[in-house]
Amino acid sequence: MKILMTGGSGFIGRHLSPVLVARGHDLTVLSRSPQRRRPLLPDAVRLVASLDDIPADDLPDAIINLAGEGIADRRWTAARKRALLDSRVQTTQALSDWLGRRGSHPQVLISGSAVGFYGDAGSAELTESSPAMRRDFSYLLCDAWEQAARELANRHGARLCLLRTGVVLGAHDGMLARLLPAYRLGLGAQLGNGQQWLSWIHIDDMVALIVRSLESPAASGIYNAVAPQPVQQARFHRALAAQCRRPGVMRVPALPLKLALGEMSTLLLGGQKVLPERLLAQGFSFRFPELDAALQDLLGQPA
Ligand code: NDP
Repeated sequence: MKILMTGGSGFIGRHLSPVLVARGHDLTVLSRSPQRRRPLLPDAVRLVASLDDIPADDLPDAIINLAGEGIADRRWTAARKRALLDSRVQTTQALSDWLGRRGSHPQVLISGSAVGFYGDAGSAELTESSPAMRRDFSYLLCDAWEQAARELANRHGARLCLLRTGVVLGAHDGMLARLLPAYRLGLGAQLGNGQQWLSWIHIDDMVALIVRSLESPAASGIYNAVAPQPVQQARFHRALAAQCRRPGVMRVPALPLKLALGEMSTLLLGGQKVLPERLLAQGFSFRFPELDAALQDLLGQPA
C-alpha cells in the first residue's frame, strides 16, 4: 500500500515506520523538518515538507494521522491550548483539502485520539460506547480531532479507525522515558492519593494495532488503544520503582502539582479506567496485557 503518515517522526511513528517498510508498504512521512528527521526513519521512507511535494501519480491508499504538538510539553496557557488544537485539527483539515484538490480517495484513514476523550473520569469503567465523563480540555481536544478525521473520511469515502490511545510505554520515548531518570535516582513518587487510573499500552501492541487497522478491511470505528489491565497510579508507581530496584516510598501531594502545572496537572492527578472492549471482541491479541511484563520487557529486569 502507498501510505502517507503525518507525525511519523514522533515516538509512535518511529517504531511503526520500520514495521510498515518490512511489510512491503511504500511510506511517505509529512514532516515540518524533513532533513532533521531523516536519521530517525528507515532509508526507504520518503520525507516531505509539504503535501504539494507528493507527485500526482503517488497518491496514498492509506493515511495514518498522528501529527500534533506534545500534550505534556508545556503549561496549558490559552496560546498553548490553541497550538495543541490547531496542530491536530488544521493538519487534518489541510489533508482533507489536499485530497480534494488532487481528487484522491484513500481506502483508509487511521487517526489518533486519546483516552483523554473521556475526560477526567474517576473510577468509571469506560468502553468505546461510553460518553465523556467530563467536558474538560482533554475532551475538547480529542473530540475536535476526531470530528476533523470523521469529516475527512466521510468526504473522501475512506474507512475510518479512530484510536483513543492510552499512555504509550516505550523504553526511550514518551512518559516512561521522562520518568525513568527520577525513578533510577529513587525519586519517583506516588502522585496525590495515587488512586487515579492510568490506561497504558506497550509500544509493540500500539504498532500491531495500527498495522491491523491498516491491513484488516473489517477494522473500523473507534478503538480504545489500551491494554486490558489499566492500573491506578500508586500501582504503576510501585511497579516502576520495583523495576528500577528502588523503594518507591516517595509521595508528592496534589497541591504543589496543581500550583506548578495549573490545568495540565489533570494529566497526572486525573485519569481514566479505559477498556479495549472492541479490540478484545474482535480477537486482537495483546502481547503485553499486564503491566509488570510490559515494564520488564521494556526495562529488561524482572520485578
Ligand atoms: P510525538 O510528540 O512523539 O510526535 C508527534 C509528531 O507530530 C512530531 O514528531 C512532529 O513531527 C509532529 N508535530 C508536532 N507539532 C506539530 C505541529 N505544530 N504541526 C504539525 N505537526 C506537528 O507523538 P507520539 O508519536 O507520541 O504520538 C502521536 C500522536 O498520538 C500524538 O498526536 C499524540 O498526542 C497521540 N497520543 C500519544 C500518546 C503517547 O503516549 N505517546 C498517548 C495518546 C495519544 P515533525 O516535527 O516531523 O513535523
